[in-house]
Amino acid sequence: MAEAVIKLGKKKKDTTFLDKVKEILPEGGNLNACLTCGACASGCPATGLADMDPRKFLRMAALGMDEEIAQSDWPWMCTMCMRCIYVCPMQIDIPQLIFNARALRPREERPKGILGSCDMALKNETTSAMGTTEEDFEFVIEDVLEEYQEAQPEFAEMEAPIDKEGAEFFLNQNSREPVTEPDELVPLWKILHLAGVDWTYGSKGWAGENYCMFLADNKDWEQITATSVNQANKLKVKTYLNTE
Ligand code: SF4
Ligand code: SF4
Repeated sequence: MAEAVIKLGKKKKDTTFLDKVKEILPEGGNLNACLTCGACASGCPATGLADMDPRKFLRMAALGMDEEIAQSDWPWMCTMCMRCIYVCPMQIDIPQLIFNARALRPREERPKGILGSCDMALKNETTSAMGTTEEDFEFVIEDVLEEYQEAQPEFAEMEAPIDKEGAEFFLNQNSREPVTEPDELVPLWKILHLAGVDWTYGSKGWAGENYCMFLADNKDWEQITATSVNQANKLKVKTYLNTE
């Protein structure tokens, strides 16, 4: 008698995308521990976009749907807010799964806005995604500071130092503010002044956001981070204060 063959679907690949991500994460990112409770999906700001949510995305990875994952635009809609891992009872590292899903796409095919900002930040050592040079940054900081010192005598002693050696805090700054909204720099200066905080910007590595990280480009985001950290170390600043 002929044996009946029941086909359950495609043969599972030997090594899936999920397997590869598990290999590079401590404890495998707990990626096999999902209880399908849905807590991640309920708090995720990207739930429902592209008909996707973090629980569904993890399930697709568990089922070896690697092609669908590579083609999906949803990983680019994730804000990397980390809410999913905080609420997950199993501490499953979905953000890292998504980060690695972004890296599946060839660099030149990743979203133009993020790609362009990353490339711009790599062009000079300020790491500004707007391409601001050290000279332009210094000019804006001095100009805005002077304006407020004159207009508001109670802040006449306020400082906004660049490359001050031995300061307590190395402060970074969103790239856009010195270019498009320089007045937005001032409220934080005021708070630091009133609190008596000893701080400095770096002439290099002052730009705080790291688009190369959102691009999932490990080499480039490391370069951006290293530029800031090296400048902070060179100035012997004790604490890196990240505003982004
Ligand atoms: S919160 Fe964690 S356990 Fe629950 S569905 Fe999401 S990933 Fe799975
Ligand atoms: S990190 Fe991404 S997947 Fe997780 S909650 Fe935030 S937006 Fe959603």
